[in-house]
Amino acid sequence: MRWILREKIEEFKKGVLKAGWFAEKMFRKAISSLIERNANLASEVVSDDDLMDQMEIEIHEKAMEILGIFTPIKMELKMVTTGIRIAEILESMGDRSARIAKNALELSKEPPLKPLVDIPKMADITSDMVKESLRMFADADAEKSFEICKQDAEVDELYERVKEDLLLYMMESPRYVKRALLLLEIASFIEEVADLATNIVEATVYMVKGDLYKCCHDDMVAFKKGGGILFESSD
Ligand code: FE
Ligand code: FE
Repeated sequence: MRWILREKIEEFKKGVLKAGWFAEKMFRKAISSLIERNANLASEVVSDDDLMDQMEIEIHEKAMEILGIFTPIKMELKMVTTGIRIAEILESMGDRSARIAKNALELSKEPPLKPLVDIPKMADITSDMVKESLRMFADADAEKSFEICKQDAEVDELYERVKEDLLLYMMESPRYVKRALLLLEIASFIEEVADLATNIVEATVYMVKGDLYKCCHDDMVAFKKGGGILFESSD
């Protein structure tokens, strides 16, 4: 019975990673549709969201099957519960990518407002964060968590810069407001995807170490059971 469970868990983990790979690809496609002003690519991302939703349901069903038939314990139980959590996070990422694509579609109908610099930068860091957070889960390795948390702080900073910059455009002329707002929303969705990557990190750290850590600003902070900060992890 044990070896069947091990095989089932392996298969389950592959399913989660496949969904992760799909979510990351959706995000990159959404950003490309914005940069290349490619309406077809943007529509593709919008319809990809249904596939992403379906993947989450399948992961849930597989998890229920494993929990119901094999009643796993210890690391195997943690792997299944973390997989469920990550599937939910990936589904939310898919939603953000679809929203980015919808805005990109709108923007492709208008003349460009400005050359995009900081938004692609934010997106590059974010897609790296998503990839690395999934690698952490795949390898059951908490090593990279601090780095990914620091990257989130970089994305937050870039977001603030993008916001200030777009506000200036909005104040300059009412003609710019619509496009600036669409871009501002895109930047905030990217920032949310980066936050979701840190949620994958937190779930993985919990799976590996059994401790609750939260990515606060640019550091991983341990939380006591029952609430409250236990200690700062570095510096
Ligand atoms: Fe969705
Ligand atoms: Fe953030």
